[in-house]
Amino acid sequence: MTFTFTPNPVFSGLPTTIFEEMSQLARHHQAINLGQGFPDDPGPEDVRRKAAEAVIDGNNQYPSMMGTPELRAAIAAHYGRHHGVALDPDKEVLVTSGATEALAASILGLVSPGDEVVVFEPAYDAYLPLIRQAGGVPRIVRLTPPHWRFDEALLEAAIGPKTRVVIINNPINPAGAVWPREDLDLLARVIAPTSAVVVADEVWEHVVFDGHAHVPVLAVEGLRERSVKIGSAGKIFALTGWKVGLVAAAPPLLRAVAKTHQFLAFTTAPNLQAAVAYGLGKDDAYFAGMRARLQAQRDYFSKGLVDAGFSVLPSQGTYFVCVDLAPLGLADDAAFCRRLVAEARVAAVPVSAFYSVNAVTTVARFCFAKNEATLDEAIARLSKAVSLLAA
Ligand code: PMP
Ligand code: GLN
Repeated sequence: MTFTFTPNPVFSGLPTTIFEEMSQLARHHQAINLGQGFPDDPGPEDVRRKAAEAVIDGNNQYPSMMGTPELRAAIAAHYGRHHGVALDPDKEVLVTSGATEALAASILGLVSPGDEVVVFEPAYDAYLPLIRQAGGVPRIVRLTPPHWRFDEALLEAAIGPKTRVVIINNPINPAGAVWPREDLDLLARVIAPTSAVVVADEVWEHVVFDGHAHVPVLAVEGLRERSVKIGSAGKIFALTGWKVGLVAAAPPLLRAVAKTHQFLAFTTAPNLQAAVAYGLGKDDAYFAGMRARLQAQRDYFSKGLVDAGFSVLPSQGTYFVCVDLAPLGLADDAAFCRRLVAEARVAAVPVSAFYSVNAVTTVARFCFAKNEATLDEAIARLSKAVSLLAA
């Protein structure tokens, strides 16, 4: 008898993620990879040294499944200092293996079969598969450029008696938009009559520009007790491969997420936890300097895109800037990105990949967190490509 097996269709039916697909194409075509979001910058040397020292001199055995006491204390202190949010490090903080694991632990821990989960699209690619695996039913609220803010009536229509979770992503990847406090206040008002929990993916919290302030859900009246905040050291320190994430939430919510975490990753490399604990205590100048460098890269690359003939959408945060292809007569961002990587040898990501229904199909995302030489070469290639690819 031939051996056959049936994998879980929730995952086996999925394509490879758009990030991996574009990175593979970039390698294949020896293209400049402005698709997947990771910076050229190697990250703060003192933080990397702490990790190296901790590997040699520190503990390399299982840390507590909640995270090392030192890192949990540092997380609580960090949010107290930056946002005035008081967290109990023993009852309200959990360390995870990246924000991806935090998302999985939150969604699988909070959503039961038949529960409805409100998701704003464009949505980071991990949300929908995890909701489906939990047996949840996604209710989509569509966001559109250039502001990517939600419409109150659309949100009201998506929320109902079965809503268990509302997932938000602020600042938004791939849009590069930052929701202001009034939008979070509106969300709090709309969900006030329900028992919905907000899962807030705030991994880009420190990467905001032009004086925009990131408002964490935990600092919004009406959301503090019902929200699960997710962060990522990978984004806070531009060390995307580190996979140290965090969850902060009121004790009953945190317990539900931790119960799931114990069978996903259980714990996270102690040496990286030691380095992140150190890094979170860095002074304000570090965070301001990181933002200023990224903002300069955004401005440099955006100007190059404009000069090349692209219509550039505002980028208020993240490593990403988007272009609207419609003014060039292009209606298919995925086809554009496939041609761009093959013919111009620059990889980007089509924003339509972040929609499950009624996609916006004319927006492409570029990662600008690169050094000047890389951006110069990318702009030179894009300038040549634009007349070739435009309709
Ligand atoms: N959420 C969003 C919105 C992201 O952009 C990313 C990573 N780019 C993640 C989650 C995953 O973070 P991590 O690498 O810490 O798992
Ligand atoms: N979050 C990164 C991006 O937006 C990619 C992460 C991944 O490859 N899974 O580019």
